[in-house]
Amino acid sequence: MSKNDIKVALIGNPNTGKTSLFNQLTGLNQKVGNYPGITVDKKEGVSKLSSTQNAIITDLPGTYSINPTSLDESIVLKTLLKKDIKESPDVILVVADVENLKRNLLLFSQIKDLEIPTVLAINMVDQMDRKGITIDVSLLQKELNTEIVLISARKNEGIQEVKEAIIRCHVAAKASPLCGINHKIDPDYFDALKVISPNYSLYELWLMVTQNNYPDSITKEEKDKLVAFKKDISKLKRYQHKETIYRYQEINKILKKTYIVDKTKAKDLRSKLDKVFTHKIFGYVFFVFLLLLIFQSIFDWASFPMDLIDGTFAEFSSYVKSNLPSGIFTDLLTEGIIPGIGGVLIFIPQIAILFMFIAVLEETGYMSRVVFLMDKIMRRFGMNGKSVIPLISGTACAIPAIMATRTISSWKERLITILVTPFTTCSARLPVYAILIALIIPDTKIFGFLNLQGLVLLSLYALGFATAIIAAYILQKTLKIKTKSFFVVEMPNYKLPSVKNVFFEVVEKTKSFVFEAGKIILALSIVLWFLASNGPSSFDNAEKNTIENVANQNLSDDELQQKIASAQLENSYIGILGKTIEPTIKPLGYDWKIGIALITSFAAREVFVGTLATIYSVEADDEDTSTIKQKMASEINPDTGKNRFNFPVGMSLMVFYAFAMQCMATLAIVKRETKSWKWPLIQMFGMALLAYVSSLITFQILS
Ligand code: GDP
Ligand code: MG
Repeated sequence: MSKNDIKVALIGNPNTGKTSLFNQLTGLNQKVGNYPGITVDKKEGVSKLSSTQNAIITDLPGTYSINPTSLDESIVLKTLLKKDIKESPDVILVVADVENLKRNLLLFSQIKDLEIPTVLAINMVDQMDRKGITIDVSLLQKELNTEIVLISARKNEGIQEVKEAIIRCHVAAKASPLCGINHKIDPDYFDALKVISPNYSLYELWLMVTQNNYPDSITKEEKDKLVAFKKDISKLKRYQHKETIYRYQEINKILKKTYIVDKTKAKDLRSKLDKVFTHKIFGYVFFVFLLLLIFQSIFDWASFPMDLIDGTFAEFSSYVKSNLPSGIFTDLLTEGIIPGIGGVLIFIPQIAILFMFIAVLEETGYMSRVVFLMDKIMRRFGMNGKSVIPLISGTACAIPAIMATRTISSWKERLITILVTPFTTCSARLPVYAILIALIIPDTKIFGFLNLQGLVLLSLYALGFATAIIAAYILQKTLKIKTKSFFVVEMPNYKLPSVKNVFFEVVEKTKSFVFEAGKIILALSIVLWFLASNGPSSFDNAEKNTIENVANQNLSDDELQQKIASAQLENSYIGILGKTIEPTIKPLGYDWKIGIALITSFAAREVFVGTLATIYSVEADDEDTSTIKQKMASEINPDTGKNRFNFPVGMSLMVFYAFAMQCMATLAIVKRETKSWKWPLIQMFGMALLAYVSSLITFQILS
């Protein structure tokens, strides 16, 4: 960023096309950052306005007015009031939707009164003919005392004009209030306010008082004077109310002269589609069908690129291993770093596919109908109509599912959805369930046709969903998070999705996963690798001792390697940890070997099977688990002399994996999405506690 770049803030009501315009202006020169201390993403990009002039554009969250009712909206206010810091905008670009101009102009009129240079972009003008709208632009320009550009962000029309207007506006740097609104309400009162500081416009001072939001640059003395205005709170409220009424009166007056809608021209495709999509029966049928499609695609279609990534990294790792001199560095590279990066990238297909769907649903306007359909049901459990999508996608994988909560605008509803989504049965649990079910549930039919093993698996899915819902209900009652229940269900018009917007959405989500959650996943996987492949002196002797111990057994090379791997794991730091926790997990029916598998499978649940295979020194293959299954079936519990993996232990383990978080990628993504370590840690320990207690009860009752 260079010093003479113009800082431009994009502001507007939700769904007016801010992001579309942002994409047109900046192309791929975007990055997502953080607003300090809160959970909302900050999108910034560079736009080339002319051959000599660049602009830094910020896409602010959608807001209906400058008086915030939500966290998202408060960012807009904060950005505008911080005149002093480097982030404050030079020019404001207000984006309005031509079909809802009146409502959009309320926000515009407030911004205008801040006396910051402002350009008004009236978007979606491609719809004007169809809706029978005509605008007298030059008169409107004069009345609003501002630069106006008619644009279609979707059709890439008027973008150049926007750029030129920004430059003109910046050069002129003139900014006058729209109507001096407050002054007319009570001249004496507002004159007294105005004289407090010459550095701020009257409206800014008024906002500081009413919104209790003071910029850092304000002096102590000025602040004291402003605070004094809060004494008569009822007057304050009355004037705020008057202000809104007055603004609407002015806007109406102006629009009457400049904005004409010929109702007979407006065709009504929308109401026909709404009849279907929000229908009491068809609406749900269509939605279920859509969920199945999404589910199918992240489960099935994603598996091909995922296998490809998996295979490529495995090959790359063994290629590097055989081409570098052996040593600690090579081990770190081939067993820690390369598989770790592969373990991050493996999530990309699912994330990309899910976000392609979500972007299309948002773009077409269908998502608002989902909220309409599902909100009543989900709200009872403290969630949002949109929570259905994460909960269903969670059956494939919690990572894309948790990212999908970003479309939920209420922070409390979003947080609850994030916290409960990992309870749904993700595909990483399947290998664990599959092997345990095969071991402890007989392969018989009940009622002549129902396969008992299948039924148990189905119950585990049901258990996951039920737990998610119950947990959400409890969290709703216990989480103390203030949310204003101010709720506008706005149904945007149906639109064909813009390919560009969908593409940018997918790129942005993938990037934010790889670079933010990815770091944590990589770091954790290297730590786990280190702990599993290093240990105290007994680790160093494991290989030598094993070779001596089995010298007379005539083992094949493979068998010998398996025995060594097993001995090394047993004597590694993780092995020692597994043994240390044995007393704690004994009441659940587990021994130290299972303990080791519990620890390693924190990387990802499916690692459980592979770890047991290593410990039992047998071959474990992703496709063929029969050897490890046999080994588990014949494993004896020395205390009882009976099978280790009997019914109570198997059930206890399945319950454990149903409830425990056991997934470092989930930990990482929750950290990314909530922007703090607080929630992922609460979630991890909460789920672990629930898992422990439930498994304990299960084992004790069954045995
Ligand atoms: P934001 O919420 O303000 O960021 O708005 P978006 O950029 O996400 O756009 C909301 C919807 O309006 C999307 O479905 C866009 O494809 C659509 N849209 C944006 N600009 C135009 C336009 O110029 N014409 C039409 N017809 N639709 C548009
Ligand atoms: Mg947007």
